[in-house]
Amino acid sequence: MENTTHKSKLPGIKTSIFSIMSKMANDYNAINLSQGFPNFETDKALKKLVTKAMNDGHNQYPPGPGVKILREQISKKIVSLYGKTYDPDTEITITCGATQALYSAITAFVHRDDEVIVLKPAYDSYEPTIKQNGGIPVQIQLKGEDFKVDWEEVGSAVSSATKMIIINTPHNPSGKILTERDMQELQKILSGTKIILLSDEVYEHLIFDGKTHESASRYPKLAERAIVCASFGKTFHNTGWKTGYCVAPASLMKEVRKIHEIAVFSVNHPMQVAYAEYLKDPEHYLELSKFYQNKRDLFLNLIKDSRFSYTPSDGTYYQILNFSAITDEYDVDFAVRLLKEEGLASIPVSVFNINEKDNSQLRFCFAKTDETLEKAAEILCKL
Ligand code: PMP
Ligand code: GLN
Repeated sequence: MENTTHKSKLPGIKTSIFSIMSKMANDYNAINLSQGFPNFETDKALKKLVTKAMNDGHNQYPPGPGVKILREQISKKIVSLYGKTYDPDTEITITCGATQALYSAITAFVHRDDEVIVLKPAYDSYEPTIKQNGGIPVQIQLKGEDFKVDWEEVGSAVSSATKMIIINTPHNPSGKILTERDMQELQKILSGTKIILLSDEVYEHLIFDGKTHESASRYPKLAERAIVCASFGKTFHNTGWKTGYCVAPASLMKEVRKIHEIAVFSVNHPMQVAYAEYLKDPEHYLELSKFYQNKRDLFLNLIKDSRFSYTPSDGTYYQILNFSAITDEYDVDFAVRLLKEEGLASIPVSVFNINEKDNSQLRFCFAKTDETLEKAAEILCKL
């Protein structure tokens, strides 16, 4: 080909911080508390169910929206947890991780010059997808140590061009959650508009200290306009299986499924059959909050005498630590130094902020064995 220079659709996009830090952690043989994935195995019983599904012949294309028995189990789970019934035939779609659910939802609805409100710091897939579709991200920074939403600011950001608002609870990277009050404020702002709510709830089962997950599905006035995204990878310790789902009213799901169909048509079959069986025991997801709360508490207890400051996470498997008492380095520089010199990988939070603002914060993933957390804490306490 003569001309190898092509106009980029996403000229501003850089390699994801998750890929950068995990690669560097491998290169430097560092403890990896950066990218969010567990370093322990998924349940053997679930792996057996996948093997069984393969041996039982579930190896060809499943139906595009996903295996019916899995959609039925998801429907049961949501009605039992959040009191809302989604029709497995028309309102639930199994996707290639939550990433593809988010991608399909944004692509289905965002047209050129549509505005999408994004609360920052935000997971790094939202904005490129908005831009790829010609949309305009309208960024609003979360406030203070608790990453609170300023709903007045959100209300003022709504315009006739607003097509969608994206929320994420429990929130990556802060580990904070939206409260009932937040959901009511959101409901007030959206009432009387046609704005679509995209609710990223991939950490719905990781919520601590007896708090509750305020799913958009719980609120009829929000659920009627919401596409809610979830991730089995996050929930069942197998992020590499890349399976998730989204739920939405049929009128919205109809459009999401069009993008789903052309993007992937359907997603891996044996995993879906296995998850359907595994979901029959609610303990498999209900026990997770306690499991991860113990990990959070272990980690925080181990670093309590360090010079980092923090407020404990309310959910997710991330803990943000503030390092301003240790150094005034730019967070990216400090994260790189911590990795190269001390052998510990983390995620600098600035990369998710508006204008990459640095607030001296690093994010640590505590979905790790106790032994790994102990080794990491030893390093943190030396600083
Ligand atoms: N949303 C958030 C907030 C995330 O942290 C992640 C990372 N898992 C995703 C979406 C993507 O989930 P999945 O791995 O299922 O694609
Ligand atoms: N969600 C994971 C995190 O926040 C990473 C997913 C990814 O690598 N894109 O660390």
